[in-house]
Amino acid sequence: MPAQLQLPSPTTTSAISNTTFAAPAHTPKANTSANGGSALERRARLTARLAKLAAAGHLAPLARQIGSLGGCARPIRMTGHRTRLDTATGQILDHLDTRHLPAGELLVRCGNRRAARCPACSTRYRYDTYQLIAAGLRGGKTVPATVATHPRVFATLTAPGFGPVHNQPGAASCVCGTRHGDGDPFLGTPLNPQRYDYTGAVLWNAHAPALWARFTTHLRREIAHAAGLTQRTLRHHATLSYAKVAEYQKRGQIHFHTVIRID
Ligand SMILES: [Zn+2]
Ligand SMILES: [Zn+2]
Repeated sequence: MPAQLQLPSPTTTSAISNTTFAAPAHTPKANTSANGGSALERRARLTARLAKLAAAGHLAPLARQIGSLGGCARPIRMTGHRTRLDTATGQILDHLDTRHLPAGELLVRCGNRRAARCPACSTRYRYDTYQLIAAGLRGGKTVPATVATHPRVFATLTAPGFGPVHNQPGAASCVCGTRHGDGDPFLGTPLNPQRYDYTGAVLWNAHAPALWARFTTHLRREIAHAAGLTQRTLRHHATLSYAKVAEYQKRGQIHFHTVIRID
C-alpha cells in the first residue's frame, strides 16, 4: 500500500469516483449526526487513519489482532504487562507489554451470550452449546457413541403465567386486536400492567437455579421410586446426566431447555 493515499474530498460526491478507492457497496447517505458529520466524512476520516497505520507498517499486525477476535463487537480491552519466568533459573521465558501490541491494548473476546450485545460471540456460544448438547445425545467430544442407545428426554421447562401478555397466536391477532410483527417491542409485555404479577415474575427468575436444583433432586427420587430402589441404591445402577440451556423468553422469564439422559 502506498505511504500516502489521496483522500476523497468529504464534501463532494464526485470524490467517490476517485480511482484510489473502490466504490462502497452501498452509497453512503449524506445524513449528518451530532458528532460524526456525514457518512462520507466519517469514511474519509477512517480511511485516513487506516492509511496512517498502513504507512507505519501497523495495519497487518492490527488486522491479525482484530482477526483473532472472530468478529466480537465489544472486545474487552486490557492493559498491563506479564512476564513468565523459569523459577529454577530465573530466565525470562516471555514478556508481554500491551503497549507494544498493535492496538496498544490486549483485546479479548467479550463472550457475551446476548445477540443484542455481541452478535459474533452469542452465535459462537449458541454453536458451542449445540455441539455440547449434540455430543450428549449421540456421543462425540469425549462422550462415547454408546450414549445414543441410553434413554433420553429433551424437555423444556417453562415458567407459569403471571398475567396475559401481547403475543403472536399463529395467524390470528393478539387479544389487543393488533397483529404484532416479529420485532414489535410490545411482544411479551403485559396486556394489563396494573394487574400483572411482576413480583411473581421477578421471584421466578431469581429462584430459577434453585428450582432447577429441586427438579433434579425430585427427578432422581421419582426414578428411584419407579425402579423400586432408594435414592442411595439408585446410584449403583444408574446415573442421571443433564445438559441445560437457560433462555429468556420474550416476556422476560427464564426457561430451560434440557436433555436428560440415564446412563
Ligand atoms: Zn463479543
Ligand atoms: Zn397485543
